[in-house]
Amino acid sequence: MSGSLCVNMSTGMKMKCDSQEYASMQSSLAVQHILLTVLMVTGFLCTKTIYDKIRRRHARITVVVIGAGPVGLTAVVVAARSGRVARVVLYEEVCRNALVNKQHQIAFDAKTVAFLQKLGVDFDNMEGCWDKSCFFTRIGIFQEYLLSVIYRLSVPVDIRLGCKFGQESIKETENMPGRCLIVACDGANGQAVRLLGLSDEFEQHSCNAYGAVAALERMDQPQVPLPERRVQNLHFDLAAYGSDVVEVDGHQGFSLKIFGSSRNRYMSLVIPKSESPLVKTLRVVLDRSMMRNIFLKCFNTYKSATDNTISDSLALKHMKFSPRLFEIKLLQRVETVTYYQESDTFVIIEGESARCYNIQTGLDVNVGLNGLMVLSTFISNITLARSEHAINKALMFKSKQSEQLCKEIVQNGLHNYMLSN
Ligand SMILES: Cc1cc2nc3c(=O)[nH]c(=O)nc-3n(C[C@H](O)[C@H](O)[C@H](O)COP(=O)(O)OP(=O)(O)OC[C@H]3O[C@@H](n4cnc5c(N)ncnc54)[C@H](O)[C@@H]3O)c2cc1C
Repeated sequence: MSGSLCVNMSTGMKMKCDSQEYASMQSSLAVQHILLTVLMVTGFLCTKTIYDKIRRRHARITVVVIGAGPVGLTAVVVAARSGRVARVVLYEEVCRNALVNKQHQIAFDAKTVAFLQKLGVDFDNMEGCWDKSCFFTRIGIFQEYLLSVIYRLSVPVDIRLGCKFGQESIKETENMPGRCLIVACDGANGQAVRLLGLSDEFEQHSCNAYGAVAALERMDQPQVPLPERRVQNLHFDLAAYGSDVVEVDGHQGFSLKIFGSSRNRYMSLVIPKSESPLVKTLRVVLDRSMMRNIFLKCFNTYKSATDNTISDSLALKHMKFSPRLFEIKLLQRVETVTYYQESDTFVIIEGESARCYNIQTGLDVNVGLNGLMVLSTFISNITLARSEHAINKALMFKSKQSEQLCKEIVQNGLHNYMLSN
């Protein structure tokens, strides 16, 4: 009888067994081995999945916001409500009083109103007025309201009013533990973005329109938010200025908007680009009295019944205006998002620091706030991004959104804000 020497694994005893028995023992050992391996792999995968789930659930970042303008304050609320932020630090160079006493008006369109309402902004508890689904208020009132919301947030917010974001703040941010996002909302004249090392270059997008603006401060009037007034298809007769421009020549006329509070009245005149004689004259001829008169007549003809007329002498002394038509452009910062690997810090730019018109349309705060509509998603993406690929994907997402926004504003912004009723 052929046989072989087997070793009993449990006892270590050598014994003789036939080849059939030997083969079956070998195969059962192999099965045991496979089962053990499967068990270990499954265990590892389960532990990893649970660990990843816990890590994802608890992953948090710190958000630093520069600027407590309407955009910066909204960014704080979005960040705190994203569920992904452990702490927010807010830098604002001016003190609280200066902030809440800012006088000029801001106007929210229906889309922005809906966005802010979702964040908990209760417009019915804010001084201001509604007109055609838009809400008009004083900038200081909105900022004061948002500050009161921020004080009640469950996420800790370190509010540093009267504290300019400078070199020291950059060092402090770099030393913060964990991943950090800096949201720069330092306005059209802010310098923080340059300090952070982002390019100061702006791309200029023509909006295919010409425009002019006028502003008048009437110190004797109270600071009451007022709805805007829009008038379409205006033509002007310039014969009194020695111009032989024939009036209605088939081209679309000017769109006029009167907006601002009862104290700070603004007017914008916009016309789609054309080579009509009227447009050419108003673009080329520099005649201050002609422009002043156009704005004066526009205001007195189309103001609301409750608005006081502007006298010639008031316009002469106190009205500031563009001396001729200029091309309307949207200025878009070339670099609006970046990542610094050494300090694990993301930087994005929002509000007027990222994009703004070279004309006032009375709905400009919306252009600034638009970028925040994906901020929560972006925060979530960067909080969870571990690999280089995931980080790049998050950066691409934000930068594409910025480009898309810019395209939409160039295509539809002026039309929605000025050229239609
Ligand atoms: C005269 C005027 C009239 C306007 N009228 C209207 C209107 O009728 N309707 C409308 O919708 N919009 C209007 N706007 C536009 C509107 O005010 C802006 O769109 C809006 O304020 C932009 O918000 P923001 O937060 O991007 O910038 P800002 O409001 O400019 O806020 C930027 C903030 O950053 C702070 N800051 C800057 N640098 C630093 C730093 N290094 N550290 C810390 N803080 C810093 C500044 O102090 C400021 O508080 C008007 C603007 C002006 C100037």
